[in-house]
Amino acid sequence: MSEPLVVVENLRKVYRSGPKEVVALREVSFTAHPGELIAVRGRSGSGKTTLLNQIGGLDTPDAGRVAIDGHDVTAMNEDRLLALRRDTLGFVFQSFGLIPVLSAAENVGVPMRLTRMPVDERDQRVRMLLSLVGLEQHANQRPYELSGGQRQRVALARSLANRPRLLIADEPTGQLDSQTGRQIMQLIRALVRSEGVTALVATHDPGLITLADRVLEIHDGVLRETTPV
Ligand code: ADP
Ligand code: MG
Repeated sequence: MSEPLVVVENLRKVYRSGPKEVVALREVSFTAHPGELIAVRGRSGSGKTTLLNQIGGLDTPDAGRVAIDGHDVTAMNEDRLLALRRDTLGFVFQSFGLIPVLSAAENVGVPMRLTRMPVDERDQRVRMLLSLVGLEQHANQRPYELSGGQRQRVALARSLANRPRLLIADEPTGQLDSQTGRQIMQLIRALVRSEGVTALVATHDPGLITLADRVLEIHDGVLRETTPV
């Protein structure tokens, strides 16, 4: 089998507010291999966001280690984390996170502006990505002129802009009706295949689990693997 892309070892995260402590992750370990679509399932408050944030270098664990492509994320300084997020990771959030004053095409182009990609190449890739998510006819519309499902398609196209190795999606269908949510999950499934990325997708929607290669179940910060049905 190929080398794992993501290695998580004994990850522990404790939130402290005053005298209160919440143990959000309890010695969580797993590995993800290239091309896998992994669902992280658990109720609200079970620790899904906390786990994804530690993996994406958006937060620092209290103990344990995350490595992506052999690089220790937990030991990176801010500059290296920025480079990791720009070059290796793609993020999709429940609330889309688009820039309201920019068109769909401009939103997709934002991550490429942070690299030295020539303008022509950037424009071409923006068009390719928008057609990949079925929005070539909507390139010039702003987020408020798009439906929720279309906004999440733009966010997905943007997340793939810099050809990430790892896509991290935190409840990408949480603000969508179930039919639109299903379409977005099917699109993620197709993109993981066509773009060859690895994806970690947090969700508590049982209907979406069937599309995953593997399911990790988290309960009160304890992770265990279950078999998709
Ligand atoms: P999920 O994404 O599965 O809903 P979270 O990872 O957001 O769960 O939260 C896990 C636990 O950690 C919950 O009990 C939540 O209340 C707590 N928590 C999350 N973020 C913070 C924070 N910044 N400060 C204190 N507690 C937090
Ligand atoms: Mg969450």
